[in-house]
Amino acid sequence: MQAPSLGGVSVPRGNGSTVVRLRHGSSLNDFADKIDANPASLVTVLFHLGEMATATQSLDEDTFGTLAAELGYVIEMVSAEEEDRELLGSFDIDLEAEEAGESDEDLQARPPVVTVMGHVDHGKTKLLDAIRSTDVVAGEAGGITQHIGAYQVTKTHEGVERPITFIDTPGHEAFTAMRARGAQVTDIAILVVAADDGVMPQTIEALNHAQAANVPIVVAVNKVDKEGANPAKIRQQLTEYNLVAEEYGGDTMFVDVSAKQNLGIDELLEAVLLTADAALDLRANPDKDARGVAIEANLDKGRGAVATVLVQSGTLHVGDAIVAGTAFGRVRAMFDEHGDTVTEAGPSRPVQVLGLASVPSAGDTLLVAPEERTARQIAEKREAAERAALLAKRRKRISLEDFTQALAQGKVETLNLVIKGDVSGAVEALEDALLKIDVGDEVDLRVIHRGVGAITQNDVNLATVDNAIILGFNVKFAERVEELADREGVDVRFYSVIYQAIDDVEAALKGMLKPEYEEAQLGTAEVREVFRSSKFGNIAGSIVRSGEIRRNTKARVLRGGKVIGDNLTIESLKRFKDDATEVREGFECGIGLGSFNDLEIGDVIETWEMREKPRS
Ligand code: GDP
Repeated sequence: MQAPSLGGVSVPRGNGSTVVRLRHGSSLNDFADKIDANPASLVTVLFHLGEMATATQSLDEDTFGTLAAELGYVIEMVSAEEEDRELLGSFDIDLEAEEAGESDEDLQARPPVVTVMGHVDHGKTKLLDAIRSTDVVAGEAGGITQHIGAYQVTKTHEGVERPITFIDTPGHEAFTAMRARGAQVTDIAILVVAADDGVMPQTIEALNHAQAANVPIVVAVNKVDKEGANPAKIRQQLTEYNLVAEEYGGDTMFVDVSAKQNLGIDELLEAVLLTADAALDLRANPDKDARGVAIEANLDKGRGAVATVLVQSGTLHVGDAIVAGTAFGRVRAMFDEHGDTVTEAGPSRPVQVLGLASVPSAGDTLLVAPEERTARQIAEKREAAERAALLAKRRKRISLEDFTQALAQGKVETLNLVIKGDVSGAVEALEDALLKIDVGDEVDLRVIHRGVGAITQNDVNLATVDNAIILGFNVKFAERVEELADREGVDVRFYSVIYQAIDDVEAALKGMLKPEYEEAQLGTAEVREVFRSSKFGNIAGSIVRSGEIRRNTKARVLRGGKVIGDNLTIESLKRFKDDATEVREGFECGIGLGSFNDLEIGDVIETWEMREKPRS
């Protein structure tokens, strides 16, 4: 059906509920394709709706929504997961069908994967250390020496040695960040609560995250060695949050521990296994190509991209062709948490993997591809999809009307950021913290790109296009990129402490709200002689008494301490016969104040400029 539309162009219309499915990062061309329209007409219609876009530009969901509503269509954006599923499907990889097709015989018990969460300072790190050091097997081999992002310990339970995997980055931020990317790695959460402090805001936050993810919780009541520790109170407090201790008739295991004195650690591990056995059916098929998640990754000078991967099902072997997010490669070598090489890794096993061509992000899914070529193609297609989605996001989401109005009121204030760091965990932590800065509605903070590794030409180009600031955390410029940044005037800041970066950004955001100015005195000069000139106005032959006098700065004239002329400008400045831009203290000069001629010997000329006041 053709009907006249906005702007007099003709576009086939939907009936109000005709569904059009689009991928993220689609353009008007893609939309036009689906409804059999001329892209140019869509450009026109969109223009009349107050938005300007070219036919090939990636648009966001809102823009498509507006356009579609006008034309009688309903837009359904294909989710990133669906898109990826389709992509893998085109390579004959169907993870869901693969799982559905597994029979009971294929499945074998796998160790639980545990994340330690809780309020800051309640002892998460200490507890992870204590657990690490209790491992008998590791003890014989010299202990767990490497921080690879996860480790496995073994616990003898009912006569059987059973491994337990711990994610070695405490806190629910990492947990949530991974979950936000669709990666559920945690089977059981240990909620650490200090017995001398009690339930705190982050305790509840952690608990909410775990419950939302349907992850059973074991409570570690920590610091029981401390005076004033009240473990019973913790049990009582947590009943309010549906965590009722077994001894009170509930089904949550509470274990009193002291991470510092290594007390109760064995009981805690026991509780983890009991909870896993009671609440979960942890099984996976080890006899297939590995599927897993990247939990930490960084770029190592000598070894290249180093990623710690948690295998979730199947077995990962040295030599396997792998793809993790947009990174691909072949497993060159694998190491465990003891720094020992391993040749294969089964379900729930964390391993450090060498051989990826680039650095994946924490939470990226990892899978083994039938051959390296496939891995590369999947990675490339993902990267293209990511780029398109990024472009869609980058487009200013503001209508012409809004824009003019907002501009007039000085309300458009967006701080765009590019974040680069040495490890993906740091980049994510920094981004999370930055996005949490509260500066009200007037200012918008947008992270337009983030990644691991040196600051590259691509980062600078992005920053140039979007007027962004680049934050480098423990990284440097790649070769020759510094010159480019200089040339383009891109502000690049380097940090090695996260809080400093946050402070700076916060200050910048506050500064952008509305800068406040204050007057700063630049210099004073005393008039020694007045040269009268009808052509140039009077010139004050002066000596600079303090600071310096600069041309084109603001000035006022004082006589006997009183202001007799204000808001003047140093219009001319001479040293002898020559023009000068500045004259310093102790030197003589000739000052012209434009049409202001009321000058006398002994007058003081004071100059100042307005400076932005730092916010407190
Ligand atoms: P996190 O912020 O939750 O990772 O907490 P940390 O593990 O860094 O511990 C915070 C502080 O509490 C540190 O000074 C630890 O030494 C101390 N701490 C941790 N566990 C215990 C414990 O069982 N007993 C005592 N007395 N102090 C502890």
